Amino acid sequence: AYNERESLFIAVNFAREFFQQNLKTDEGQSIGLSYFKERGFDLATIEKFDLGYALNSWDQLLLEARKSGFEVDNLLKAGLILERENSPGHYYDRFRGRVIFPVHNLSGKAIAFGARILTQDKKQPKYINSPETAIYHKSDVLYGIYQAKQAIRQEGNCYLVEGYTDVLSMHMAGIENVVASSGTSLTESQIKLIKRFSDQVTVLYDGDEAGIKASLRGIDMLLEGGLNVKAVVFPSGEDPDSFARKSGKREFQDFLKAGQKDFIHFKIDLFAGEAAGDPIKKAEAIRQVVLSIAKIPDPIVRSVYAKESARLLAMEEEILLTELNRQLLKQQ
Ligand code: ATP
Ligand code: MN
Ligand code: MN
Ligand code: MN
Repeated sequence: AYNERESLFIAVNFAREFFQQNLKTDEGQSIGLSYFKERGFDLATIEKFDLGYALNSWDQLLLEARKSGFEVDNLLKAGLILERENSPGHYYDRFRGRVIFPVHNLSGKAIAFGARILTQDKKQPKYINSPETAIYHKSDVLYGIYQAKQAIRQEGNCYLVEGYTDVLSMHMAGIENVVASSGTSLTESQIKLIKRFSDQVTVLYDGDEAGIKASLRGIDMLLEGGLNVKAVVFPSGEDPDSFARKSGKREFQDFLKAGQKDFIHFKIDLFAGEAAGDPIKKAEAIRQVVLSIAKIPDPIVRSVYAKESARLLAMEEEILLTELNRQLLKQQ
């Protein structure tokens, strides 16, 4: 007999295989595969990420899994099926008529799924995801880590994006050191996971208000985790996926190189921007930069950044240090 975790791995792996095979059916080809193709994802990328398709049916996966000997209880615990609200003892597939993005653990086993709707339907959520299970703790996982880990180590840097398709498009553009936080705010255990492979992160969140807010939060958390942090701001309304597709491989790589700022420049530009001469805006930028520097655990690194910021902001180091010490005392 298998223990519960093992039986969940087996069920999720069965579903992963099933969703992949569905891409080869008529429905899968004309709907799922053509969706991926329209978005510019080639077969190599589809295979690398085990992408799939959930048929537009209430119980195709349930029926196939039952035929193969899986118990209802196992499929429920794996997050693959749901019980009908008005008829207990009856079940249906969680993922239906959607393209499937399997989420892998560090050793490449599928542990959960993200599923995207194909058409704009305001009544349905754009993505639905597996629930928490015994093998899937959302807050511990980063999408794409298995496909990225080697490159993260090699490059000494990890790009952090918001979404599944951002990860895919970055791979298409030849950049493999990338993971996604999947739309939720970064956690301590996700940061620890990145730190196993690199001590630097470049945040590439969407160029909208939510993305910028999330960048600010993420930057401070990464600094607190002792990481070296950079960020790139995307043009308004663009995310790494849309921008990569618009600009092409070479141009995208150049944009990342040229647009990469350390967190100090990121904050100065965000809070002072063009109005750098405005004393009120400048004071706000200084306070914001100091707030982030105060998160850095290593006092030596902290003082290096304090010096650098004073220089960039053309102000006396003394004043900046006074503000920094005030913040540090407040945090204790
Ligand atoms: P696409 O390009 O396919 O529209 P995206 O990744 O750009 O997707 P965003 O709206 O930017 O989508 O969201 C970022 C990430 O947040 C998604 O990749 C997904 O992981 C998660 N997400 C988005 N919408 C939802 C939702 N309704 N429910 C759960 N997770 C979601
Ligand atoms: Mn977004
Ligand atoms: Mn996006
Ligand atoms: Mn997108």
